[in-house]
Amino acid sequence: MILFKRPGDLIDFIQKKRKSAIKVGFVPTMGALHNGHLSLIKKSKSENDITICSIFINPTQFSNPNDFEKYPISIETDIEQLELNGCDILFMPSVNDIYPENFQKNNFELGYLDSILEGQHRAGHFQGVCMVVKRLLEIVNCDILYLGQKDYQQCMVIKKMVLDLNIPVEIKISPTIREENGLAMSSRNKRLNEGEKEAALVIFEVLCFLKENIFERDIADLKVKSVEKLKAKGFDIDYVEITDEFLNTITTAEKKQTIVALIAATIGNVRLIDNMILNNANDAE
Ligand code: AMP
Repeated sequence: MILFKRPGDLIDFIQKKRKSAIKVGFVPTMGALHNGHLSLIKKSKSENDITICSIFINPTQFSNPNDFEKYPISIETDIEQLELNGCDILFMPSVNDIYPENFQKNNFELGYLDSILEGQHRAGHFQGVCMVVKRLLEIVNCDILYLGQKDYQQCMVIKKMVLDLNIPVEIKISPTIREENGLAMSSRNKRLNEGEKEAALVIFEVLCFLKENIFERDIADLKVKSVEKLKAKGFDIDYVEITDEFLNTITTAEKKQTIVALIAATIGNVRLIDNMILNNANDAE
């Protein structure tokens, strides 16, 4: 694996490689890698000639300074994991490389996506996400961008930005990788103590409960029951929401529509998010 720190060096390298017809896959991350990230690397490896992973803890997407300061870092094991999984290039820029002094801040037109769910609870978060992804895509110049469904709303936001700005990249979204007990893998899980990790299983339990009952019970009741279950395990809840595939809240469930459940809740000082497709429109008879 080749490690690049300076954007210019990576740009030159890719430009030279592109003299022959190659496909480049890109997996942007904030490090503290786990099997969720590695599943994206593996997918990219299987579909491209070159796979690039970036590790950059993007300050502009953190609305909570404490969350930024406490974000887990494990560069050495990250490098080992990437090498084990055959990643070709690791890009690890500095904040100054991504946001140089003359950096032009765009305002990204994200519509309702910027003010619901994560947008509502983390002001400015998606502006920061778009800022960094746009910049990374300019540097990396990939054919396929690999994202995780774990960050469902983020996938929608990035898709919209790519479409609006005509960025020539295909986006592929991979399913959420979970621990055996159902807990969605997340870098932030490293900040949970044993008791909190145990309690956090309730998030997956609630998502499964919603999936089992979505056509059996009233959505309003299901939400109340979900909130109770999460609170009983000590969670502070930002939202338990049930939506269509575009994240519009729904109040009745129909088999012919895609239905998504999304949860954001905090235990200790750790905010966790997770989601599950409760019904897939394509499966409707
Ligand atoms: P992050 O390092 O948290 O910014 O995540 C980098 C990429 O990995 C994003 O596209 C995430 O959606 C994806 N990702 C994070 N956790 C998981 C997971 N458990 N399963 C699949 N993809 C994930």
